[in-house]
Amino acid sequence: MQDFSVSDPLRTGFIDLRSDTVTQPTDAMYARMRSAPIGDDGLDGDPSVRELEEAVATRLGKEAGLYVPTCTMANLLAVMAQTQRNQQLVLEANAHMYTTERGGAVLAGLGYHPVPGQAGAMDLAQLEAAVRGGPYKPRTGLIAMETSHNNSGGTVLPLAHMHDVYALAANAGIAVHIDGARLMNAAVALGVPAARLAQYGDTVSLCLSKGLSAPVGAVLVGTHASIAAARVFRKMIGGTQRQAGIVAAAGLEGLQAMSERLADDHVRARLLSDTLNEAGSPISASAPQTNIVQVQVGASGRSSHDWVAALGAQGVLTRPWGDAVLRCVTHRHIDETDIVRAGDAFRHVLRQWR
Ligand SMILES: *Cc1c(COP(=O)(O)O)cnc(C)c1O
Repeated sequence: MQDFSVSDPLRTGFIDLRSDTVTQPTDAMYARMRSAPIGDDGLDGDPSVRELEEAVATRLGKEAGLYVPTCTMANLLAVMAQTQRNQQLVLEANAHMYTTERGGAVLAGLGYHPVPGQAGAMDLAQLEAAVRGGPYKPRTGLIAMETSHNNSGGTVLPLAHMHDVYALAANAGIAVHIDGARLMNAAVALGVPAARLAQYGDTVSLCLSKGLSAPVGAVLVGTHASIAAARVFRKMIGGTQRQAGIVAAAGLEGLQAMSERLADDHVRARLLSDTLNEAGSPISASAPQTNIVQVQVGASGRSSHDWVAALGAQGVLTRPWGDAVLRCVTHRHIDETDIVRAGDAFRHVLRQWR
């Protein structure tokens, strides 16, 4: 497998485990951006944007795609395009669309109804109860799933669970959206084509600026009708761009060249987890299914914020996830040497506080 980390412009001494969003464009992306055919995407269309939209739709087995600046916007447009005002969106209680994006309710004019889950998978009985109709209950316009699941440490929804949610929704005549910001990570982890996951959603969002390394952008895919509706709302909220083919070209390169290499990130996340668990108590790392490791630091007597500062002083950048958990994300700028050095930094901090 090609080693993308060698020409990495980020290797300035810091090991940046804060997020896979820190990934910078590859040389191939810059080359493609320079030569991309472009047009006015808000007027009569941009050929590179169209190519990207079609490529993502084809990859995910959908009719049409819509390029947007962020995955947050893709998710919002999926909600606006498939619901009516006063309805509700039902989703897992730790879903990114709930914890971080629920302000979208102000724009979409509906309620966000959280359902408790395990490792990102909604409890089916509680989901069924949440969508059941009643004289005083809002009608459910949309159900959302998320895979891989960010707040659950990059866990992957089992295909059987996705099938059950989709069947339950279909039975009740409710559309399903998949927040697939890291859908490619989930597909790689399951060893199946991404379309196998996408079949359990009427619409699916995909973020290009995380592990896929594009500078910006996301794509929403679905039916011709839902994407046409989303296109109207995209214009309304200011998401229609002009010579966007320049950045769409980088997204296309990310989709085509970077999806398979995500397996490397998963191996390195596992290596990081094993390294930290060898360091032993009082810290404990999750066994990652994809590229996110959650490290419990509560038993160390120091908060996650103390840990972020102490590790930062050792050249390792992490993020607090609440007061007792650190979040570490692997990506193409993190190689095996970095994992070893990150492990050393954790041990150094433990010794320093002993
Ligand atoms: C990052 C993320 C988003 C938002 O993506 P942006 O492109 O940063 O807006 C949405 N959902 C999930 C699960 C994410 O991890």
